[in-house]
Amino acid sequence: MRFDLHCHSSCSDGALTPAELIQRAREAGIDVLALTDHDTCAGLQPLQAANDCAIRLIPGVEFSSLWNKSDVHVVGLNIDPNNQTFNAAIDHQQRARQQRAESIAGRLQKKGLPDLLPQALEFAGEGSIGRPHFARALIKNGIVNTPAQAFKKYLGGGKAGDVGSYWASMETVVGWILAAGGIPVLAHPDKYALTRTRLTRLISEFKNAGGQAMEVVSGQQLPDVTRRLAGLCEDHQLLASSGSDFHRPGQSWAELGRQSALPERCRPVWQGW
Ligand code: AMP
Ligand code: MN
Ligand code: MN
Ligand code: MN
Repeated sequence: MRFDLHCHSSCSDGALTPAELIQRAREAGIDVLALTDHDTCAGLQPLQAANDCAIRLIPGVEFSSLWNKSDVHVVGLNIDPNNQTFNAAIDHQQRARQQRAESIAGRLQKKGLPDLLPQALEFAGEGSIGRPHFARALIKNGIVNTPAQAFKKYLGGGKAGDVGSYWASMETVVGWILAAGGIPVLAHPDKYALTRTRLTRLISEFKNAGGQAMEVVSGQQLPDVTRRLAGLCEDHQLLASSGSDFHRPGQSWAELGRQSALPERCRPVWQGW
C-alpha cells in the first residue's frame, strides 16, 4: 500500500487543483491520500468529487502554530471537517493569514519595495494566502528570480516578511484537531533546524499537549534523518506518519507519493484505519 499523508493544492500554496492532484496521485499509484492544505480543508470536497479511482481520502489539514516564538506545523489527519470547533479554528487561522499578509506587505514597503499585497492576494485567489504568494509577487516584479531567493532575502527566518506572531499556540492547535476527532501529527520535525535538545523538548511538549504522531518521513530525506526521527518517535511512543509535502511538479525531493519508506520499527499512524 502506498500512503501520502501530507500534500498541498491550489487551495493553499500548491500549484495543482484538487482534481489535478487526484490525477497525479493515480499516476503515482497512491492508495491512501491526505490533502493537508495550510489552515484550510476547502480542497476536500473538490478532491472527493474528482476521485473516480477509489483512492482512499483522509480528511486533513496543516495548521501553522507558535511554539517558543517559532513556527511549528501540525498536521491533523482524519478530522471531521464539519466539526464546529474545527471550523471556528479555520476561521481564526484565515483571519490570522489575512492580517499577517497585510503586515508582510507593510514591512516590505518599509524596505522600499512596492505594495505587493494586491498581487499576492491575486496569486492566492480563493486559497489560504501565505509567503509563497509574496514570493511570486517578488518574482513578477523582477525583485528576485526564484522563490528560494525570495525567502532568503525577504520572507525567511529573521527577514522583514517573517511575521510569525499571528498563529495560535501549538497546544491550542493540537486541541482543535482532537476536538474534531483527528490525529495531531507533528509535521516535518527536521525542518525546524533545532538542536537535538530543543527538538526533544518540542516533541515532549507536543505529546503532553495531546499529540499522537510525528512525521518520521517527509519527502525524500536522507536515511540518517529517518533513523534519527524513528528513534525520537519510538522514545516518545508516538505513531509514525509519512508524507511527501508535495507542492508542485518539478521538485523531485517532494514528489507526490515518492517519499522514502517508514522504517520497520515504527508503528504507522494508519495502523488502526
Ligand atoms: P507560510 O505558510 O506563509 O508561513 O509559508 C510557508 C510555506 O512557504 C511553506 O509551506 C513552503 O511551502 C514555503 N517555503 C518555506 N521556505 C521556503 C523556501 N526557502 N523556499 C521556497 N519556499 C519555501
Ligand atoms: Mn507550503
Ligand atoms: Mn509545513
Ligand atoms: Mn506542508
